Amino acid sequence: MIKRIVFPLVFVLFLVFSAVALASCDTGEPAVYDVVFLMPNGDEVERVVVPTKEGEIPVPPAGYETDLSNVDKVGTFVRWDKELTAPTKKTVSDGETMTYTPVYEYATRYYTVTFVVQGTEYPVRTAGNQTPICPVTPPAKATDPNGINLDYLGWDKEVAAVTEDTIYTARYGSTATVLAAKDGAKAVLTISYDDGNYDSAVWVNQQNKLYGLKGSCMIIAGRASFTSKVSQWKTLLADGTLDIQCHSMNHNGTTTNYGSHADHVEDVVKSKQKLEGYFPNNDVLVYATPYTKITDYSYKVSGDENSQIIQDGGTKALIHENYYANRNGPSGLQSLDPKMGDDKGAWYNLYVQWLKTESSQTNKIRTGWIDGAVKQGGWLIILAHSVVDNPDTEWNISKTNAEAFYKHAQTYVKTGELWSATFGEAVKYIRERQNTTVTERYENGAVFVDMKINRTTADGLTLTQKVFNYPLTVEVRVPSGWKLALSTDENGGTMTSAVYTRNGVSYTRVNMVPGADGAIVTTQITPLSVN
Ligand SMILES: [Zn+2]
Repeated sequence: MIKRIVFPLVFVLFLVFSAVALASCDTGEPAVYDVVFLMPNGDEVERVVVPTKEGEIPVPPAGYETDLSNVDKVGTFVRWDKELTAPTKKTVSDGETMTYTPVYEYATRYYTVTFVVQGTEYPVRTAGNQTPICPVTPPAKATDPNGINLDYLGWDKEVAAVTEDTIYTARYGSTATVLAAKDGAKAVLTISYDDGNYDSAVWVNQQNKLYGLKGSCMIIAGRASFTSKVSQWKTLLADGTLDIQCHSMNHNGTTTNYGSHADHVEDVVKSKQKLEGYFPNNDVLVYATPYTKITDYSYKVSGDENSQIIQDGGTKALIHENYYANRNGPSGLQSLDPKMGDDKGAWYNLYVQWLKTESSQTNKIRTGWIDGAVKQGGWLIILAHSVVDNPDTEWNISKTNAEAFYKHAQTYVKTGELWSATFGEAVKYIRERQNTTVTERYENGAVFVDMKINRTTADGLTLTQKVFNYPLTVEVRVPSGWKLALSTDENGGTMTSAVYTRNGVSYTRVNMVPGADGAIVTTQITPLSVN
């Protein structure tokens, strides 16, 4: 009888026990309860479960004494929302948990921001989310251990609202220079040959190879004598001494006085598209205006109203929209820094020297243009036509006289004082240079050059990265004692360059291709040999 009562009692006790604490059944140890602490985590609440044995006071999560989960305030623990008590079968009902929430007293949270200026530290206590201010103004000039004069270039990172202890270091370096012309040349020579005489271009190409020169053929895109020889032109251009630029569709005068808007589009825009279609690797950047006549209006041609002027900007507006430069005919030496706009010597009205056959224009006068460009610094743009054995118009020039000019140019190309460039190359280099800044830094025995390009020009054009990727030559100061420098670009490409001195300061040159709009590209320079 007793056995029959005892067994159900034990079974019921077992069920009750196992509901609150399974472990106790297996091992005989005390029950373990889940005690929950609701800890602050910024604007959120974090649920931290602390398993607690029956009869023991729960232990709060580590770090509960201080709430550091907010950037701008710090909480000091005051108390729990209720007294911590040991869980027992009495204090914890079935299916419930014990829950505690800490109560904090909050105050402004401060950080240590350290400004380092030329080795001196300036710590500043700054409230969270506030922007720190350096207590001193970094000097604009400094001198490095090699005696090189340095300029203040700003902090190593942008000073921002504080969210943690931070160190800012003043950067010193010098403003490097993108040189006026490639490889430090004093002058640029661009010889342009108008109208697209193929036989003349073949001869010029041979001369270019002989004398180390380049030039540009200004092509009349719709002329049959050109379109019938496109494949020959492709072969010619592959030699790389000539590029082609646009000299209208038909050279028929519609861009002079009586062109309709459609005529202007044909001459200025469709001509360019046609050339680009024939020669996809040749960037057409320059428009050479036929008869040097440009308009800022068109004519309405329908019905009886064909004398009505339309103020639509004419060829001028179309040239601005579709080209980066306009060769339009005023005589003189072009500067290496054309201004924006249409004034003489600006991008849309570049100065030229007309090479032609007339008794007053001697070889001495022509070669004197080269001497003057190198002496003054400038971009000598030659406007020539065909080079032939016996010129039959004043616009063409004899091979003998052309060669005298080439020979003279070669002497300066050899010394590095003259860069002979196609129109395309010169426009790319100068346009890029006008929109590029470079700075240099000295760190751990190396010189770093940072280059940044703004791909929108002052006259509103976009210098696309696909086309305007010509390497720019940068002059950089290096520590005295360096003899030879090795530069390494971001892609691992290397270049060795000589170190030269000017007024007691050492310099070297590196060629750098500008990156994406606003992006900084960096070249590192280290000494290859030291005195
Ligand atoms: Zn022409």
